[in-house]
Amino acid sequence: MCSSKKFFSVVNLGKHPLVNSLISKKGLNKKDPVFPLHVRQCKSCKLVQLTELIDANEIYKNVDYLYFSSDMPNLDKYFKPYADEIKKRFLKKNDLVIEIGSNDGIMLQYFKSKYKILGVDPSTNVVLRALKKGITTIPEFFTKRIASQLLYEWGEAKVIYGNNCIAHLNDVRDLMEGVKTLLKKDGVFIVECNYWGGMVKNINYSLIYHDHFSYFSLKVWNIFAKKYGMNVFDATVTPAQGGSLRLFISKDNKKKTNRYKKLIKEENINRLNTFKKSLEYKNNVKRISNKLKKIVNNLKKEGKKIAGYGAAAKGLTILKCSGLGKKQISYFVDDSPAKQGLYTPVDHIPIISRKDANKILPDYFIILAPNYSDVIIKKEKNFINRGGKFIIPKNELSIV
Ligand SMILES: [Zn+2]
Repeated sequence: MCSSKKFFSVVNLGKHPLVNSLISKKGLNKKDPVFPLHVRQCKSCKLVQLTELIDANEIYKNVDYLYFSSDMPNLDKYFKPYADEIKKRFLKKNDLVIEIGSNDGIMLQYFKSKYKILGVDPSTNVVLRALKKGITTIPEFFTKRIASQLLYEWGEAKVIYGNNCIAHLNDVRDLMEGVKTLLKKDGVFIVECNYWGGMVKNINYSLIYHDHFSYFSLKVWNIFAKKYGMNVFDATVTPAQGGSLRLFISKDNKKKTNRYKKLIKEENINRLNTFKKSLEYKNNVKRISNKLKKIVNNLKKEGKKIAGYGAAAKGLTILKCSGLGKKQISYFVDDSPAKQGLYTPVDHIPIISRKDANKILPDYFIILAPNYSDVIIKKEKNFINRGGKFIIPKNELSIV
């Protein structure tokens, strides 16, 4: 976020494939590219980030991006109250609301009836789905150039927001310039992004993959917003993605909220942005990934069959960090029809529907969408009653 080139090494996870680019049967004889996943921390602004960036086009434009928001369980329940809060606090009828990284329009749909809405998302296939639902969306990255064009055609926006898309951008500075260009003087920019504080607290490393270039704290955002003459006036941690940071940023001097003050105090007390804390995180990650490796390899020695539950990007990072692959994992189940019939990169483990798994049930499922473990276990009562077990790589790892 600053232009410093001096970094501490936080944790080096080795080389990993692009976890969102699943492979079709035709592509199985090609060699899949791998890229380094080395997390570093800027010595100057303290932002935790991947420094060896790959072109975002590689992730979103050239391959079919397989993450449809609406396919994920319970997300609508999450976005509706979030949209309601925005309406109540900041919007008047016919105001313009713009979402950056709007995916298939799952949240923007809640603004459709009373406000002008516009989505911006670079993944062509999700944009097509949004358009089908009547959500106006342009298939582009949000940049300063696009923002200027939008300003000309659509006018200033009262609210601009983006959920889990900021960390995906190579150039956050250009994004901020764009937001500043397009936002009304008394408008609000709302960002939801992964929270470094939550990753440290929950020893969560499943969020580290190539789509995510940065891992944020409130303090880092404060410094960053100030650079653009903007003001973070409200912040809270939400349960999304196992703990996300939601920030409210204004051009004018809106009064800082109590929950903002509480969170910044908490970060200071925990010394979140220090290198010492990052080192602690690294040691925890190594410890937990070794533990998972041991558990799984021991089960394999006992002749147990193991499969993955959820072929989510996060899960693939967890497996790779423990050196687990096709030797240990027979298959993945995934509820998203877009993923069924495909294979994971490098290891080429097949992805099947939960229904097809019934004929070849494993002894253990590793839950590779740890955020949804509660939902999954509730759904899988029958499997558990028949003696099936779940390995949950969350916090200190558990087996149920
Ligand atoms: Zn920096």
